Amino acid sequence: MAKTLKTFADPQKLQKWCAARRQAGAKIALVPTMGYLHEGHLSLIAAAKRKGADEIVVSVFVNPVQFGPNEDYEKYPRDEKADLAKCRAAGATAVFFPTPANMYLDGHSTFITEETLAAGLCGARRPGHFRGVCTVVAKLFNIVHPHLAVFGQKDFQQAAVIRRMVRDLNFDVKISVAPIVREPSGLARSSRNTYLSDDERARAVALSQSLARARADVAAKGTMPWRAYRAKIVKVLEKAGLVVDYVEAVDAETLVPAKSLSKGVAVLLAVWCGKTRLIDNAVM
Ligand code: AMP
Repeated sequence: MAKTLKTFADPQKLQKWCAARRQAGAKIALVPTMGYLHEGHLSLIAAAKRKGADEIVVSVFVNPVQFGPNEDYEKYPRDEKADLAKCRAAGATAVFFPTPANMYLDGHSTFITEETLAAGLCGARRPGHFRGVCTVVAKLFNIVHPHLAVFGQKDFQQAAVIRRMVRDLNFDVKISVAPIVREPSGLARSSRNTYLSDDERARAVALSQSLARARADVAAKGTMPWRAYRAKIVKVLEKAGLVVDYVEAVDAETLVPAKSLSKGVAVLLAVWCGKTRLIDNAVM
């Protein structure tokens, strides 16, 4: 029989429930999200299931601390009812919908900063973003104390930063990273895709197309100098009417910039498509 889906808003109540389930021998998985769930998020729940989790806790929290002052915190899409139904259908066993006020008590003054992997790429363009991400994820780890936490490769840098935080701060949790789920067009699924007009959606396909082309080129030609190849990608993105935020090739583990494009190198893209910032990546 399918388990009933529990919902929590109070961190202390969730913490108590998770501790009891752990004590009873349940394997607990955590899937942190900002909600407005799509197939990408649901694939993380499926991954947790495949890994044998008895309890799958999905957190749905638009974390104010990871948004910059001029970013889309207020207008970020939210739909609790739909999220709940999707979690239920996907096999989650608990959903955590905290409020900013109960996650960040008055006078909250403790934050976590990872200082190396978070410095470049999105970290450089979104000051404070990874400080907010690390802080909320650390809080969720302390509340849920999961055996396993599942993240998506869609946020490649985020996954690297979280792995480093877990290692550096001795968090007792295994991190799993699931592949990017895409729309049939190739566009990486994202809650922010809802901002796109039909025209923008068509233009945004240039992101995944550039990455697919790069992978094919590396497979066919082996190592290529990155500078020249980067210029080619920038041209393709700009031709599609996208405004480049960054186009970078990095070592997939250390995120150190790569001089050449070769097998194992990660290519990370961030662009503005109208008023929407989109990211995508692929490991060659
Ligand atoms: P978000 O709600 O955008 O903060 O994402 C929550 C989690 O879902 C993060 O670990 C993301 O990397 C992951 N995620 C978001 N979109 C996708 C996708 N298209 N494919 C796989 N994972 C995703």
